[in-house]
Amino acid sequence: MIISLARMPPDGLAFKRQYEAGELDTGEYDFELAEPPLVNGRATRAGQDMRLRGEIRARISAPCDRCLNEVTIPVEIPFDLFYAPADAGACQGVERELVERDLDFAVYENDQIDLDGLVLEQLELSLPSRVLCREECRGLCPQCGADLNVEQCQCKPQIDPRWRALADLKAGMED
Ligand SMILES: [Zn+2]
Ligand SMILES: [Zn+2]
Repeated sequence: MIISLARMPPDGLAFKRQYEAGELDTGEYDFELAEPPLVNGRATRAGQDMRLRGEIRARISAPCDRCLNEVTIPVEIPFDLFYAPADAGACQGVERELVERDLDFAVYENDQIDLDGLVLEQLELSLPSRVLCREECRGLCPQCGADLNVEQCQCKPQIDPRWRALADLKAGMED
């Protein structure tokens, strides 16, 4: 969805979008959409810049870091973002560059802001640094790949090399 800023009323422009399943392409992101996002907010002018405030609700899914099973994560993301016009950079040069980096400015062109891109980016940023299906997830066996939450494989536990000599000794005594 493109938000057109060309004929924006002085008090800003409200936007609302319930995305359909499959509408957003998450191919290059680390998550998938378990439930497509609902976005609503308001665009207002802040001098030359545009300010977009609102909220995104969705359910995203990503693989558990330990067992790789998909984990569904409900998210509610408030956002408050500034967009600078792409062509304003030239006249203000270095100063503008600094502002962009410091305040995390995005850029808009042709009086348009791509809401889809905003939504995908915010969803990606909302991903927790560690995705776990549950805190006590036992993960996969490092040797055979079995999901240790559902089965006990026959692999022997890895022995710390420092203890291997002792283990061998013990095994010898048992024989
Ligand atoms: Zn897991
Ligand atoms: Zn195993």
